[in-house]
Amino acid sequence: MNALNKKTVEDLSVAGKKVLVRCDFNVPLADGKITSDKRIVASLPTIQYLVKNGAKVILCSHLGRPKGEFKPEFSLAPVAVRLSELLGQEVKMAKDVVGESAQALAADLKDGEVMLIENVRFHKEETKNDPEFSKKLASLAELYVNDAFGSAHRAHSSTTGVADYLPAACGYLIQKEIEFMGTALANPKRPLVAILGGAKVSDKIGVITNLLEKCDTIIIGGGMAYTFMKALGYEIGTSLLEADRVEDAKAMMETAKAKGVKFLIPVDNKVGKEYAPDTEAMVINSDEIPEGWMGLDIGPKTQELFADAIKGSGTVIWNGPMGVSEWENFAAGTIAVATAVAESGAISIIGGGDSAAAVQKLGFADKMSHISTGGGASLEFLEGKELPGIAALNDR
Ligand code: AMP
Repeated sequence: MNALNKKTVEDLSVAGKKVLVRCDFNVPLADGKITSDKRIVASLPTIQYLVKNGAKVILCSHLGRPKGEFKPEFSLAPVAVRLSELLGQEVKMAKDVVGESAQALAADLKDGEVMLIENVRFHKEETKNDPEFSKKLASLAELYVNDAFGSAHRAHSSTTGVADYLPAACGYLIQKEIEFMGTALANPKRPLVAILGGAKVSDKIGVITNLLEKCDTIIIGGGMAYTFMKALGYEIGTSLLEADRVEDAKAMMETAKAKGVKFLIPVDNKVGKEYAPDTEAMVINSDEIPEGWMGLDIGPKTQELFADAIKGSGTVIWNGPMGVSEWENFAAGTIAVATAVAESGAISIIGGGDSAAAVQKLGFADKMSHISTGGGASLEFLEGKELPGIAALNDR
């Protein structure tokens, strides 16, 4: 599959056509109120394009985990209200997913009108990618657009199955993900530098393995770095360790050496006595971590080492914080790396999840070229895996 070759919404003739759009409206809710409308705002370009071009727009999404039953607390009705405000036009809310209400509203929809069907996960068939359910969903429309990157690594009816029954293209959100991450992997501006952090090596082995084939430099920070230090024979105190991954870590460093890929791990650390935000802390070299102390952030020498490696890069891919960046005392490493990436002038791609949240919280979001909207999906993309929600789309 060549993700860069997929049809986009602009490749479809949408005027007068019913278009089923899979959005990511999985918004945070508290007491039935939306606490962040970021995902709804992010969906606007595709919806507005369709409205402007005279499509009849039928939106769908999942929200939370209702486990295949109608549960009012997982209704998308609050999304329809907020989306109406943002679009400045009515968004008709169906009472069901593929039942009478959805069918009647879809049948009556006029060009340029917008409707939203209920949470696709009210049907257990959705997550099973059940062909009959996919067909029913598809029968509401004539064309299909997937714009939910965060769910593109799941083969569900609304992300994958419907594409068996309708011409299928991606929306602007997925298009941007493909353009940035696809280009970074297939034809990057070099040097290509990957920065990987976060808690677990086991989560990122696939990514590191794939990136070892493509990158000029790999930088490892965060809790996962200590498994690499262990692989080098260092004592790491009470730092995070995945003992069953030490051999993998060793093998990755050997591969890097054989391929001439620069592989950087922390040379110093900010270690703490306990896993707590205000624990007693000190800076120590990686080969001198005393017993009973745990590495909670990269140290100042490492910040400099990493910043130097980032400085001359053409493309940077970053996934995972350099330390426990949620805690002020252990956020300096992540801030230093975010600053270096922001100032590098490189094409900068931030993986979803924790790194995206860190970059946003630290105020660097508008300095990055692309912040992925999918945590799991962006990791799988960087692993070189085929995402079913993208693979199902038609080629140009
Ligand atoms: P991930 O979800 O794998 O990207 O990991 C993010 C989490 O890793 C954050 O919650 C961080 O607090 C945690 N983390 C980063 N560095 C460390 C560390 N040195 N020790 C423990 N946890 C860490």
